[in-house]
Amino acid sequence: MKTVSILIPAYNEEEVLDQCYHRTADVINSLTNYEFELLFVNDGSRDNTLSIIKSMRMLDHRVSYVNLSRNFGKEIAMIAGLDYARGDAIILMDADLQDPPELIPEMIKYWEQGYDDVYAKRKSRKGESWLKKFTSAEFYRLLQKTTRIPIQRDTGDFRLLDRRAVNALRQLRESQRYTKGMFSWIGFNKKEILFDRDPRAAGKTKWHYASLINLAIEGITSFTVAPLRISSIVGSFVSFFAFIYMTFIIIRTILFGNDVSGYASLMTVILFLGGLQLLSIGIIGEYLGRIFNETKRRPLYFIDEYNDEKVKEIGHLHETIR
Ligand code: UDP
Ligand code: MG
Repeated sequence: MKTVSILIPAYNEEEVLDQCYHRTADVINSLTNYEFELLFVNDGSRDNTLSIIKSMRMLDHRVSYVNLSRNFGKEIAMIAGLDYARGDAIILMDADLQDPPELIPEMIKYWEQGYDDVYAKRKSRKGESWLKKFTSAEFYRLLQKTTRIPIQRDTGDFRLLDRRAVNALRQLRESQRYTKGMFSWIGFNKKEILFDRDPRAAGKTKWHYASLINLAIEGITSFTVAPLRISSIVGSFVSFFAFIYMTFIIIRTILFGNDVSGYASLMTVILFLGGLQLLSIGIIGEYLGRIFNETKRRPLYFIDEYNDEKVKEIGHLHETIR
């Protein structure tokens, strides 16, 4: 029998875990041809998330969990889950039921037809402000313009991945992860299914605008070097026009002398160029920062506990488990 792992990262989700478990269990109980693993990754929650998961595990042997040593963020929680999940296919799902588990049978159906990555695309985004919708649409548009890899719009992490896609993702060990880009980058056979994204069932979103802006910058800098290219193009344009203007000034001064006017234009040029230079340095800095972080080659995460056992051997445990 094939095993399907359902990977659920959870950070302070005590209010919704119970519902999440029951709705998912209802769906997978009806799929008798598969074995299921419900793998929760507790991402350093400060509430009762871990103890709820543990009590679920006592009642249902399909529940497993990985407890990270602190809060690492969803991207890292997901790679930790991918390292520990045992299934032939892995379904990534949010704990807050915004990703309806009722889609699982359809995902599995397409997986059986040979697709490696069955991803759920939102038809609508209930419970999100127009500003969030608008910024997200603009972001996707911008990102797509800068790269040849097709970006999946309105698609979150909710998807089924075949084992080989999972193993491909596990080889991408960069520490600043933009998983959405990675799904596209690894390729393989993709299949899109549509769904209505529900508002969060309970609890609060962990995202605020600052973290969305961070994610956007992360997305761009991990995906494309276009900003560097753009700043060199802008730089050459500015130098070109500056050169023409310089020639004009020199000739004018020679012909008509210098009447010490031009304070306004001088200020404009200084401020404009100063701004442009700071912007370019900032862009370089973003990439430099990434290089700095990646060259440390730190492990992506540490595990405190895996399925009721304290992890003693700190290191690449995930390699010995599989
Ligand atoms: N999450 C996590 N670590 C974090 C933040 C979030 O594991 O640091 C999990 C969270 O428990 C949920 C999923 O990631 O299962 C999506 O989070 P959320 O619902 O807050 O994001 P949104 O749906 O608003 O994008
Ligand atoms: Mg959510």
